[in-house]
Amino acid sequence: MAFCRTVWNSLSITPRGDFRLCSLSNDPAQNESVGFDANGQVMNILTHTVEQGINSDKHRAVRLSDVHGDEWHALCSCCEQREQAIDGDPEHFNLSRRLYVNGIVAGNDTVSPINFYNKVDKQGQVSWAPSSIDIHFGNVCNFKCVQCGPQYSNQWYDEWAGVIGLGPNLHSNGFGPNKVMLTKDQHGRWYDANEIKWWESEIWWDKFKAMLPTLEHVYLTGGEPMVLKQHDRLLDEIIASGRADKIRLEYDSNLSVINPRILDRWTKFKNIDLRISIDAIKDKYELIRYGGKWNTLVDNINLVKSYAEQYPSIKIFRLTSCFQITTSHSMIETERWCLENNLPLSIRFVDTPKWHSTISLPRHMKQQLIEFYSRQPEYMVSDMIVKFLQANMDTHEPDEVRRFFKFMNYLDYTRKTDWAKTLPETAAMLRS
Ligand code: SF4
Ligand code: SF4
Repeated sequence: MAFCRTVWNSLSITPRGDFRLCSLSNDPAQNESVGFDANGQVMNILTHTVEQGINSDKHRAVRLSDVHGDEWHALCSCCEQREQAIDGDPEHFNLSRRLYVNGIVAGNDTVSPINFYNKVDKQGQVSWAPSSIDIHFGNVCNFKCVQCGPQYSNQWYDEWAGVIGLGPNLHSNGFGPNKVMLTKDQHGRWYDANEIKWWESEIWWDKFKAMLPTLEHVYLTGGEPMVLKQHDRLLDEIIASGRADKIRLEYDSNLSVINPRILDRWTKFKNIDLRISIDAIKDKYELIRYGGKWNTLVDNINLVKSYAEQYPSIKIFRLTSCFQITTSHSMIETERWCLENNLPLSIRFVDTPKWHSTISLPRHMKQQLIEFYSRQPEYMVSDMIVKFLQANMDTHEPDEVRRFFKFMNYLDYTRKTDWAKTLPETAAMLRS
């Protein structure tokens, strides 16, 4: 498999504090890449060392597969698919996570694409601390985007219980064995009985501070980092260590909240790569990224742009849009808006939940989408979407498509929205 720095130098932490190979590796059959120790216990930041974390069963399995010269490991199918979609082009706007991380993390050791097979023991273990970490500081978020769920947003509990959770699916959301355990309190409100506020423990902060001397890259993502006090403390700990100018921060944020308190801290860092999730524009944005206001987002983008003009280390790296059933026909409109506003766009392909994924659509609907995007080949999204659909032509999940209707109709009821009116082309396709 192609060399990936994440496998050798990085550790991911779930909202529960569990260790994971990587935040992209999401196959339920592989426990969403959550790491287990030799005793079969889930590894967690409060119970295991960081060095144990980057030697989890998942890290070691992929390393050994690298060393044996195997094709892509099953844990890495997301990068494999992305690189197929971009023909492996390392200059492409829509890089795989592997290519992105390889480009920004030099590594605090001598492991490299040409010597990695010498750097590992027979069990796939390495002896260094990670130089890159990716952190989900819990699931507190101020949005409840339609394709999200309780594992990333605590706003989702009621509706998840209402539309998905009845029966065996109530506790099906999350990473590895430690799912979100939706439970009713004495007032009838849903809460997560499995929540662990690991970031409130000095055990975590001591481990984080011990990593700082060799840390190069921190990736922060949802819950929404900008609304979290633990995010502010993380920036302050790095600044206090004197290493901010050596560390790159990378974000996936909804950018609903941004202020000089955060922006001023960012000016001290080596680099900020800010990815802003938009999915779509205007009324479609407000339907899909529920809780968001389009005009607020545009104002906040302009505020970051004004800082970026003064501090080139602060970058709006990408606006991101997920290709899913709700954006089936709006990706070109989104790209056009980004082009008009001189903002770079990248796209992601939703494969879970399956009821939101275009992979679940029947062949004739995929063919309609292929014809729709093939008519406008000048847009970057068109070629990628056509390739993605062509690679998934033979999959059809009729139950998931039915579930999409049930799900969106339920959200219309609770949110007073009208998805079919806001997304008329999607609705027409689904009726065909
Ligand atoms: S190849 Fe991709 S999925 Fe696999 S560990 Fe690297 S970044 Fe994660
Ligand atoms: S902003 Fe991110 S974490 Fe919050 S609901 Fe949307 S997708 Fe989920």
